[in-house]
Amino acid sequence: MITLAEVEKLGRVHTVEPTVLSVYLNVPLSPAELPGLSDRVGELVAAAARTAGRSGRLREEDRRSARDEAALAGPGWLGHPVAIFACAEVGLLEVVGLPEARPGTSPERAVLGVRPHIRPLLAALQPSPRLTAEILAEEIPAGPAAALMAIGLPACLAAVNAGAVDTLAVPYDGLVPGYECGRCGALGLAADCCPDWGTASLPVPDLIEEMVSRTLEDGGRVLVVHDTPGRIAARTRYPVAP
Ligand SMILES: [Zn+2]
Repeated sequence: MITLAEVEKLGRVHTVEPTVLSVYLNVPLSPAELPGLSDRVGELVAAAARTAGRSGRLREEDRRSARDEAALAGPGWLGHPVAIFACAEVGLLEVVGLPEARPGTSPERAVLGVRPHIRPLLAALQPSPRLTAEILAEEIPAGPAAALMAIGLPACLAAVNAGAVDTLAVPYDGLVPGYECGRCGALGLAADCCPDWGTASLPVPDLIEEMVSRTLEDGGRVLVVHDTPGRIAARTRYPVAP
């Protein structure tokens, strides 16, 4: 079964253009339904390509690999969700089986990004779904320590850019497109988010994914919460001005 080390390794994969295909699929319990699995992958991938539009760079090879891997993995993971990550450009092709799904917690999806979409994997590693409010109360004390709270996307982006995140709580669902400075790598919601103006900024299909990967790289912890999409909060190691 999946480990945090494996998820962190996936989180270090980074491409320049959105070419990393991530597919989450629920393998049916009945072997009789397995033949439909690779077509199901085809449908999910087609939807991801439509969502990514012109910015997505889906390769035929990766589409085919994802379908083939699903068909191969099916018999071994009856009744379980599996995640497939494919990006021939960087030699990535991995299938990960997840623990049996809690009802309603593992919607099927395919995502095309510059990173593997690892939030559902992180969620599967957590003991139980929790609400952001609960985590805020528990993980982020009130009083003087309130200076260590970052609440909302702009504050959390500043904290991630500073490499100061101790614990990042992100929603299970939702993608937030944004930009990355082509020079210093700062993340922001607008193309001119960094004072290094004159340097091209790169579009990032999902800022949340990027924040998750960077927090793990910087030794922080990520909690994935089933809550209103868009709610995001962090506890930082030191105060960061938004
Ligand atoms: Zn910059």
